[in-house]
Amino acid sequence: MTAYFIRTAALLLALAAGGCGQHKGEVFHDQFFAFGTLVDVSLYGVEPQLAESECRKIEMDFMEMHASWHAWQPGPLATLNGRLANLEPATIEAPLLPLLKEANRLSRLSTGLFNPVIGNLIALWGFHGNALPIGTLPDRAAIRELVAQAPSVENVTIRDSIITSDNPSVAYDLGGFAKGYAIDRAIERLRESGIQNAIVNAGGDLRAIGQHGERPWRIGIRHPRETGIIASLEISGDTSVFTSGDYERFFEVEGRRYHHIIDPRTGYPADNTVSVTVIHSDAATADAAATALFVAGPAEWLSTAHNMGIRYVMLIDTHGTIHMNPAMQSRIHFEPGIDANISLSAPLQ
Ligand code: ADP
Ligand code: MG
Repeated sequence: MTAYFIRTAALLLALAAGGCGQHKGEVFHDQFFAFGTLVDVSLYGVEPQLAESECRKIEMDFMEMHASWHAWQPGPLATLNGRLANLEPATIEAPLLPLLKEANRLSRLSTGLFNPVIGNLIALWGFHGNALPIGTLPDRAAIRELVAQAPSVENVTIRDSIITSDNPSVAYDLGGFAKGYAIDRAIERLRESGIQNAIVNAGGDLRAIGQHGERPWRIGIRHPRETGIIASLEISGDTSVFTSGDYERFFEVEGRRYHHIIDPRTGYPADNTVSVTVIHSDAATADAAATALFVAGPAEWLSTAHNMGIRYVMLIDTHGTIHMNPAMQSRIHFEPGIDANISLSAPLQ
């Protein structure tokens, strides 16, 4: 109901604003809820009927993907996790196969900082459901035990479509990159329909193709501590911009923030970073990298970005210092009044 209302409202607003989506040369907007966030699709210069039907297909795809990739609600991934927990081989359903392979590949590149098989830790912290966590700290001993079991993609073998694991604590949770992967599928779908200028934006994480008419797309990066944006960027061609922040999902106990990005090495929320923004061509890599670099923190983000093939990074640490590589600095425009300490790294090749 809510999703429908918002969509209708967005369309009405678009029409009221002078027929957006009705004329070639203008932007058609559509919104719906998926992956626990508002998804906004912008199509430039697309005839409204085609735009509307494309958006409905993307919405259906997102719903399907979310349902079957969910690690804890009944579905293919939950079934697979159940079998891996018993060290039984599992058949990976066709749509999940490239997703799991890609998650494993990105995890290796990140030296396990992006770790898609720490589902048990995520569940222990209560960040696996759609509802916000209840706000109590997990048992220290339970965390220690899960960290000692060290589930990693190195424990997993995929042959044809059969997956096996030699570590019973391996449990997939794709929350760190499923949204990116879904956005890539949406862009693929749009391209197949001949659409060349579009943005698919899920809660501020997006992939853009083409341009906004004669000019690039212009997008904002959310301020991690204030309302509004901290900086903006112009993008054109094929570009994804993803941000992982400690403000997305968190609870506080005795004045301390416990958020949803877990350092697999400690079992606790990664504690030196406030947000990381990554620019990269495809969204799945950008999403996994934003999560990995968040965990890597100020000391290790540069080497991790290098290993993952990332060329543009901005990391804000818990002291408010903004770490960037020079290429990122030359792309980003800070909002007036942003006066932070900037720590410029060596170039990322
Ligand atoms: P968001 O979903 O807010 O955009 P992320 O992309 O960083 O943020 O994903 C956070 C989610 O990823 C968590 O809710 C959890 O499901 C999962 N996750 C947490 N820590 C890790 C990690 N170290 N590696 C992989 N996935 C993680
Ligand atoms: Mg991510």
